[in-house]
Amino acid sequence: MGFSTKAIHAAIEPDPTYGSIMTPIHPTSTYVQQELGVNKGYEYARVSNPTRTVLEKNIAALEGGSEGLAFGSGMAAITSLFHLLKSDDHVVLSRNVYGGTYRLGKLVLNNFNLDFEFVDTTDLENIKKAITPKTRIVFVETPTNPTMEITDLTGVARICRSKGLMSVCDNTFASPFLQNPIDFGIDIVMHSATKYLNGHSDMLGGLLVLNDQKTVERLRFVQKSTGGIMSPFEAWLCLRGIKTLAVRMERHCSNAVEVASFLWKHKKVKKVNYPGLLSHPQHRLAQKQMRGFGGMISFDLGNLENAKKFLKRVNLCALAESLGGVETLISHPATMTHASVPPEERKRVGVVDGLVRISVGIEDVEDIIADLKQALGAL
Ligand SMILES: *Cc1c(COP(=O)(O)O)cnc(C)c1O
Repeated sequence: MGFSTKAIHAAIEPDPTYGSIMTPIHPTSTYVQQELGVNKGYEYARVSNPTRTVLEKNIAALEGGSEGLAFGSGMAAITSLFHLLKSDDHVVLSRNVYGGTYRLGKLVLNNFNLDFEFVDTTDLENIKKAITPKTRIVFVETPTNPTMEITDLTGVARICRSKGLMSVCDNTFASPFLQNPIDFGIDIVMHSATKYLNGHSDMLGGLLVLNDQKTVERLRFVQKSTGGIMSPFEAWLCLRGIKTLAVRMERHCSNAVEVASFLWKHKKVKKVNYPGLLSHPQHRLAQKQMRGFGGMISFDLGNLENAKKFLKRVNLCALAESLGGVETLISHPATMTHASVPPEERKRVGVVDGLVRISVGIEDVEDIIADLKQALGAL
Protein backbone atom coordinates (compact mmCIF):
# COMPACT_ATOMS: atom_id res chain seq x y z
CA MET A 1 0.00 0.00 0.00
CA GLY A 2 1.20 3.47 -0.85
CA PHE A 3 1.51 6.25 1.71
CA SER A 4 -1.70 8.10 0.82
CA THR A 5 -3.73 4.89 0.87
CA LYS A 6 -2.32 3.98 4.27
CA ALA A 7 -2.97 7.51 5.59
CA ILE A 8 -6.62 7.24 4.58
CA HIS A 9 -7.28 3.58 5.38
CA ALA A 10 -4.80 2.03 7.83
CA ALA A 11 -6.69 0.87 10.95
CA ILE A 12 -9.84 2.65 9.77
CA GLU A 13 -12.94 0.45 9.41
CA PRO A 14 -16.50 1.69 8.91
CA ASP A 15 -18.29 1.71 12.27
CA PRO A 16 -20.25 -1.56 12.72
CA THR A 17 -23.19 0.12 14.49
CA TYR A 18 -24.48 2.37 11.67
CA GLY A 19 -21.84 1.98 9.00
CA SER A 20 -20.51 5.54 9.37
CA ILE A 21 -17.47 5.77 7.11
CA MET A 22 -15.72 8.14 9.51
CA THR A 23 -14.30 6.93 12.81
CA PRO A 24 -16.77 7.90 15.56
CA ILE A 25 -15.73 10.12 18.45
CA HIS A 26 -16.22 8.22 21.71
CA PRO A 27 -16.60 10.84 24.45
CA THR A 28 -16.84 8.63 27.50
CA SER A 29 -14.90 8.34 30.71
CA THR A 30 -15.82 4.73 31.38
CA TYR A 31 -17.25 1.58 29.74
CA VAL A 32 -19.92 -0.76 31.02
CA GLN A 33 -18.69 -4.24 31.95
CA GLN A 34 -20.77 -7.34 31.21
CA GLU A 35 -19.67 -9.00 34.42
CA LEU A 36 -16.63 -8.92 36.64
CA GLY A 37 -13.57 -9.10 34.42
CA VAL A 38 -15.57 -9.17 31.16
CA ASN A 39 -15.53 -6.10 28.88
CA LYS A 40 -15.07 -5.13 25.24
CA GLY A 41 -11.40 -4.24 25.63
CA TYR A 42 -12.01 -0.86 27.24
CA GLU A 43 -12.35 -0.11 30.96
CA TYR A 44 -11.48 3.52 31.64
CA ALA A 45 -10.72 6.27 29.14
CA ARG A 46 -7.37 7.36 30.59
CA VAL A 47 -6.13 3.86 29.74
CA SER A 48 -7.69 3.63 26.30
CA ASN A 49 -10.41 5.02 24.06
CA PRO A 50 -11.58 3.56 20.72
CA THR A 51 -11.05 6.82 18.77
CA ARG A 52 -7.55 7.17 20.19
CA THR A 53 -6.81 3.51 19.43
CA VAL A 54 -7.55 4.07 15.73
CA LEU A 55 -5.17 7.04 15.59
CA GLU A 56 -2.48 5.09 17.47
CA LYS A 57 -2.73 2.24 14.95
CA ASN A 58 -2.84 4.59 11.97
CA ILE A 59 0.31 6.51 12.93
CA ALA A 60 2.10 3.21 13.69
CA ALA A 61 1.35 2.12 10.11
CA LEU A 62 2.59 5.43 8.67
CA GLU A 63 5.86 5.31 10.62
CA GLY A 64 6.50 1.58 10.20
CA GLY A 65 6.25 0.75 13.90
CA SER A 66 4.20 -1.94 15.63
CA GLU A 67 2.47 0.45 18.04
CA GLY A 68 1.67 4.11 18.52
CA LEU A 69 0.74 6.08 21.64
CA ALA A 70 -1.19 9.36 21.60
CA PHE A 71 -0.76 12.16 24.15
CA GLY A 72 -2.34 15.52 24.87
CA SER A 73 0.55 17.46 23.30
CA GLY A 74 3.98 16.92 21.85
CA MET A 75 5.48 17.90 25.19
CA ALA A 76 3.30 15.34 27.01
CA ALA A 77 4.67 12.69 24.64
CA ILE A 78 8.28 13.74 25.33
CA THR A 79 7.59 13.94 29.09
CA SER A 80 6.27 10.37 29.06
CA LEU A 81 9.24 9.25 27.01
CA PHE A 82 11.65 10.70 29.59
CA HIS A 83 9.80 8.73 32.27
CA LEU A 84 11.71 5.74 30.91
CA LEU A 85 14.71 7.28 32.69
CA LYS A 86 15.83 6.75 36.27
CA SER A 87 17.54 9.21 38.59
CA ASP A 88 21.20 9.79 37.63
CA ASP A 89 20.66 8.96 33.94
CA HIS A 90 22.12 11.06 31.13
CA VAL A 91 20.55 12.04 27.79
CA VAL A 92 22.31 13.37 24.69
CA LEU A 93 20.22 15.69 22.51
CA SER A 94 20.56 17.75 19.34
CA ARG A 95 21.76 21.22 20.33
CA ASN A 96 18.87 23.09 18.74
CA VAL A 97 15.93 20.90 19.57
CA TYR A 98 12.50 22.49 19.94
CA GLY A 99 12.64 25.16 22.67
CA GLY A 100 10.12 23.28 24.83
CA THR A 101 12.27 20.14 24.80
CA TYR A 102 15.25 22.19 25.94
CA ARG A 103 13.17 23.80 28.70
CA LEU A 104 11.80 20.45 29.89
CA GLY A 105 15.28 18.95 30.20
CA LYS A 106 17.21 21.94 31.47
CA LEU A 107 14.66 23.66 33.72
CA VAL A 108 12.22 20.95 34.84
CA LEU A 109 13.63 17.41 34.75
CA ASN A 110 17.07 18.60 35.87
CA ASN A 111 15.47 18.83 39.34
CA PHE A 112 15.11 15.04 39.32
CA ASN A 113 18.81 14.40 39.00
CA LEU A 114 18.64 13.80 35.25
CA ASP A 115 21.35 15.21 33.06
CA PHE A 116 20.56 16.60 29.59
CA GLU A 117 23.47 17.38 27.31
CA PHE A 118 22.99 19.28 24.07
CA VAL A 119 25.50 18.73 21.28
CA ASP A 120 25.84 19.44 17.57
CA THR A 121 24.51 16.12 16.25
CA THR A 122 25.24 17.03 12.61
CA ASP A 123 28.69 15.64 13.48
CA LEU A 124 28.29 12.08 14.80
CA GLU A 125 31.66 12.34 16.58
CA ASN A 126 30.05 14.82 19.01
CA ILE A 127 27.45 12.20 19.97
CA LYS A 128 30.13 9.56 20.53
CA LYS A 129 32.14 11.97 22.68
CA ALA A 130 29.12 12.96 24.79
CA ILE A 131 28.10 9.38 25.65
CA THR A 132 29.02 8.35 29.19
CA PRO A 133 28.31 5.14 31.16
CA LYS A 134 25.19 6.94 32.46
CA THR A 135 23.75 7.73 29.02
CA ARG A 136 20.43 6.00 28.25
CA ILE A 137 18.85 7.96 25.39
CA VAL A 138 20.09 9.84 22.34
CA PHE A 139 17.36 12.26 21.22
CA VAL A 140 17.72 13.95 17.85
CA GLU A 141 15.53 16.30 15.89
CA THR A 142 16.03 16.47 12.13
CA PRO A 143 15.55 18.88 10.48
CA THR A 144 16.07 20.98 13.60
CA ASN A 145 14.16 24.01 14.66
CA PRO A 146 14.81 26.69 13.48
CA THR A 147 18.14 26.36 11.65
CA MET A 148 17.20 23.25 9.64
CA GLU A 149 20.28 21.22 10.54
CA ILE A 150 20.15 17.60 9.42
CA THR A 151 21.36 14.66 11.51
CA ASP A 152 22.36 11.34 9.94
CA LEU A 153 19.73 8.93 11.28
CA THR A 154 21.51 5.76 10.12
CA GLY A 155 24.64 6.94 11.93
CA VAL A 156 22.77 7.75 15.15
CA ALA A 157 21.02 4.36 15.10
CA ARG A 158 24.33 2.56 14.56
CA ILE A 159 26.03 4.34 17.49
CA CYS A 160 23.08 3.62 19.79
CA ARG A 161 22.87 -0.06 18.79
CA SER A 162 26.56 -0.57 19.46
CA LYS A 163 26.27 0.97 22.94
CA GLY A 164 22.87 -0.44 23.92
CA LEU A 165 21.23 3.01 24.01
CA MET A 166 17.75 4.02 22.95
CA SER A 167 17.61 6.30 19.91
CA VAL A 168 14.74 8.75 19.50
CA CYS A 169 13.90 11.10 16.63
CA ASP A 170 11.54 14.07 16.85
CA ASN A 171 10.10 13.78 13.33
CA THR A 172 7.70 16.74 13.60
CA PHE A 173 9.32 18.92 10.92
CA ALA A 174 9.51 16.20 8.29
CA SER A 175 6.25 14.33 9.04
CA PRO A 176 6.00 10.63 8.14
CA PHE A 177 5.34 11.63 4.53
CA LEU A 178 8.93 12.82 4.11
CA GLN A 179 10.91 10.71 6.56
CA ASN A 180 10.53 7.45 8.49
CA PRO A 181 13.26 7.27 11.15
CA ILE A 182 12.44 3.64 12.04
CA ASP A 183 13.55 2.65 8.51
CA PHE A 184 17.02 3.90 9.43
CA GLY A 185 17.13 1.90 12.67
CA ILE A 186 15.86 4.58 15.09
CA ASP A 187 13.99 3.01 18.05
CA ILE A 188 11.30 5.61 18.80
CA VAL A 189 9.71 8.28 16.61
CA MET A 190 8.07 11.27 18.24
CA HIS A 191 5.65 13.78 16.69
CA SER A 192 3.98 16.94 17.77
CA ALA A 193 0.70 16.09 16.02
CA THR A 194 -0.19 19.76 16.53
CA LYS A 195 1.82 20.54 13.39
CA TYR A 196 1.74 18.80 9.99
CA LEU A 197 -0.22 15.71 11.06
CA ASN A 198 -3.23 17.78 12.09
CA GLY A 199 -2.33 20.43 9.54
CA HIS A 200 -5.16 22.84 10.32
CA SER A 201 -3.92 24.55 13.51
CA ASP A 202 -6.97 23.47 15.48
CA MET A 203 -5.65 21.00 18.06
CA LEU A 204 -2.67 19.94 20.20
CA GLY A 205 -1.37 16.41 20.30
CA GLY A 206 1.72 14.25 20.63
CA LEU A 207 2.58 10.78 19.32
CA LEU A 208 5.20 8.11 19.93
CA VAL A 209 5.76 5.15 17.59
CA LEU A 210 8.03 2.18 18.24
CA ASN A 211 8.52 -1.55 17.76
CA ASP A 212 10.10 -2.93 20.93
CA GLN A 213 7.27 -4.64 22.82
CA LYS A 214 8.85 -4.29 26.27
CA THR A 215 9.26 -0.54 25.83
CA VAL A 216 5.70 -0.29 24.44
CA GLU A 217 4.37 -1.92 27.61
CA ARG A 218 6.38 0.38 29.83
CA LEU A 219 5.23 3.47 27.91
CA ARG A 220 1.58 2.37 28.08
CA PHE A 221 2.04 1.97 31.82
CA VAL A 222 3.60 5.45 32.03
CA GLN A 223 0.80 6.86 29.84
CA LYS A 224 -1.96 5.61 32.12
CA SER A 225 -0.01 6.45 35.27
CA THR A 226 0.88 10.03 34.34
CA GLY A 227 -2.36 10.66 32.44
CA GLY A 228 -1.25 13.03 29.70
CA ILE A 229 -3.48 11.40 27.09
CA MET A 230 -5.02 12.73 23.88
CA SER A 231 -8.78 13.33 24.06
CA PRO A 232 -11.12 11.47 21.66
CA PHE A 233 -12.06 14.71 19.90
CA GLU A 234 -8.40 15.61 19.31
CA ALA A 235 -7.72 12.06 18.09
CA TRP A 236 -10.57 12.44 15.60
CA LEU A 237 -9.27 15.82 14.38
CA CYS A 238 -5.83 14.32 13.97
CA LEU A 239 -7.18 11.35 11.99
CA ARG A 240 -9.06 13.75 9.76
CA GLY A 241 -5.91 15.82 9.21
CA ILE A 242 -3.77 12.78 8.38
CA LYS A 243 -6.09 11.83 5.49
CA THR A 244 -4.81 14.83 3.51
CA LEU A 245 -1.22 14.77 4.78
CA ALA A 246 0.25 13.58 1.49
CA VAL A 247 -1.36 16.25 -0.71
CA ARG A 248 -0.67 18.97 1.83
CA MET A 249 2.99 18.00 2.19
CA GLU A 250 3.51 17.98 -1.58
CA ARG A 251 2.22 21.54 -1.74
CA HIS A 252 4.15 22.66 1.38
CA CYS A 253 7.32 21.33 -0.23
CA SER A 254 6.82 22.85 -3.68
CA ASN A 255 5.80 26.22 -2.21
CA ALA A 256 8.79 26.19 0.16
CA VAL A 257 11.26 25.49 -2.64
CA GLU A 258 10.00 28.60 -4.46
CA VAL A 259 9.95 30.76 -1.33
CA ALA A 260 13.48 29.63 -0.41
CA SER A 261 14.88 30.51 -3.84
CA PHE A 262 13.11 33.88 -3.75
CA LEU A 263 14.66 34.64 -0.35
CA TRP A 264 18.05 33.34 -1.42
CA LYS A 265 18.15 35.83 -4.30
CA HIS A 266 16.89 38.81 -2.26
CA LYS A 267 19.65 41.27 -1.35
CA LYS A 268 18.23 42.11 2.10
CA VAL A 269 18.44 38.45 3.15
CA LYS A 270 21.83 37.51 4.59
CA LYS A 271 21.34 33.77 4.82
CA VAL A 272 18.65 31.17 4.07
CA ASN A 273 18.43 27.86 5.92
CA TYR A 274 16.53 25.32 3.84
CA PRO A 275 17.65 21.72 3.27
CA GLY A 276 16.46 21.89 -0.34
CA LEU A 277 19.01 24.56 -1.29
CA LEU A 278 22.31 23.38 -2.79
CA SER A 279 23.99 25.84 -0.39
CA HIS A 280 22.67 23.92 2.65
CA PRO A 281 25.65 22.14 4.26
CA GLN A 282 23.74 18.84 4.58
CA HIS A 283 21.76 19.03 1.35
CA ARG A 284 23.07 15.62 0.20
CA LEU A 285 22.21 13.95 3.51
CA ALA A 286 18.71 15.48 3.42
CA GLN A 287 18.32 14.07 -0.09
CA LYS A 288 19.36 10.66 1.17
CA GLN A 289 17.03 10.34 4.16
CA MET A 290 14.08 12.57 3.22
CA ARG A 291 11.62 12.27 0.33
CA GLY A 292 11.28 16.05 0.08
CA PHE A 293 12.66 19.06 1.94
CA GLY A 294 9.61 20.17 3.90
CA GLY A 295 7.85 23.47 4.38
CA MET A 296 10.08 25.10 7.01
CA ILE A 297 12.60 27.83 6.18
CA SER A 298 14.54 30.26 8.32
CA PHE A 299 16.44 33.32 7.13
CA ASP A 300 18.64 36.00 8.60
CA LEU A 301 17.78 39.67 8.19
CA GLY A 302 20.98 40.80 9.90
CA ASN A 303 19.66 42.26 13.15
CA LEU A 304 16.68 42.52 15.51
CA GLU A 305 15.66 45.91 14.11
CA ASN A 306 15.24 44.53 10.59
CA ALA A 307 13.40 41.44 11.83
CA LYS A 308 10.99 43.64 13.81
CA LYS A 309 10.28 45.95 10.87
CA PHE A 310 9.77 43.03 8.52
CA LEU A 311 7.43 41.15 10.88
CA LYS A 312 5.35 44.28 11.38
CA ARG A 313 4.88 44.67 7.62
CA VAL A 314 3.74 41.15 6.67
CA ASN A 315 0.01 40.80 6.00
CA LEU A 316 -0.82 37.40 4.56
CA CYS A 317 1.90 35.67 6.59
CA ALA A 318 0.57 35.61 10.17
CA LEU A 319 2.99 36.40 12.99
CA ALA A 320 2.50 33.40 15.26
CA GLU A 321 4.28 30.51 16.94
CA SER A 322 3.63 26.99 15.68
CA LEU A 323 3.91 25.55 12.19
CA GLY A 324 2.61 22.93 9.82
CA GLY A 325 -0.84 24.41 9.20
CA VAL A 326 -2.35 25.19 5.81
CA GLU A 327 -1.78 28.91 6.44
CA THR A 328 1.64 30.53 6.27
CA LEU A 329 2.97 31.39 9.73
CA ILE A 330 6.00 33.49 10.44
CA SER A 331 7.88 33.84 13.71
CA HIS A 332 10.95 35.20 15.46
CA PRO A 333 12.71 32.30 17.22
CA ALA A 334 14.99 34.40 19.48
CA THR A 335 12.06 36.12 21.22
CA MET A 336 9.34 33.52 20.69
CA THR A 337 10.05 29.75 20.53
CA HIS A 338 13.62 30.03 21.86
CA ALA A 339 13.10 32.73 24.51
CA SER A 340 13.97 30.29 27.32
CA VAL A 341 17.33 29.46 25.73
CA PRO A 342 20.05 31.76 27.17
CA PRO A 343 21.31 34.41 24.65
CA GLU A 344 24.87 33.06 24.44
CA GLU A 345 23.54 29.54 23.84
CA ARG A 346 21.18 30.89 21.16
CA LYS A 347 24.04 32.55 19.32
CA ARG A 348 26.08 29.36 19.47
CA VAL A 349 23.33 27.34 17.78
CA GLY A 350 22.68 29.95 15.08
CA VAL A 351 19.48 31.45 16.51
CA VAL A 352 20.69 34.99 15.83
CA ASP A 353 18.54 38.08 16.54
CA GLY A 354 17.83 38.70 12.85
CA LEU A 355 16.58 35.15 12.26
CA VAL A 356 13.01 34.78 11.01
CA ARG A 357 11.29 31.42 10.65
CA ILE A 358 8.57 30.75 8.12
CA SER A 359 6.20 27.82 7.97
CA VAL A 360 5.22 27.97 4.33
CA GLY A 361 1.52 27.24 3.94
CA ILE A 362 -0.38 25.86 1.00
CA GLU A 363 -1.79 29.15 -0.31
CA ASP A 364 -0.93 30.23 -3.87
CA VAL A 365 2.82 30.68 -3.74
CA GLU A 366 2.66 33.94 -5.76
CA ASP A 367 0.66 35.50 -2.93
CA ILE A 368 3.10 34.33 -0.25
CA ILE A 369 6.06 35.66 -2.21
CA ALA A 370 4.30 38.98 -2.95
CA ASP A 371 3.72 39.48 0.78
CA LEU A 372 7.34 38.68 1.67
CA LYS A 373 8.52 40.99 -1.11
CA GLN A 374 6.52 43.98 0.07
CA ALA A 375 7.58 43.40 3.70
CA LEU A 376 11.26 43.12 2.71
CA GLY A 377 10.78 46.40 0.86
CA ALA A 378 10.49 48.12 4.27
CA LEU A 379 14.13 47.37 5.09
C1 LIG B 1 5.70 21.94 18.57
C2 LIG B 1 6.83 21.02 18.71
C3 LIG B 1 6.97 20.22 19.85
C4 LIG B 1 6.02 20.31 21.01
O1 LIG B 1 4.74 19.96 20.66
P1 LIG B 1 3.41 20.56 21.37
O2 LIG B 1 2.32 19.82 20.66
O3 LIG B 1 3.41 22.03 21.14
O4 LIG B 1 3.49 20.23 22.82
C5 LIG B 1 8.04 19.34 19.88
N1 LIG B 1 8.93 19.26 18.87
C6 LIG B 1 8.83 20.03 17.77
C7 LIG B 1 9.85 19.90 16.70
C8 LIG B 1 7.78 20.93 17.65
O5 LIG B 1 7.69 21.70 16.56
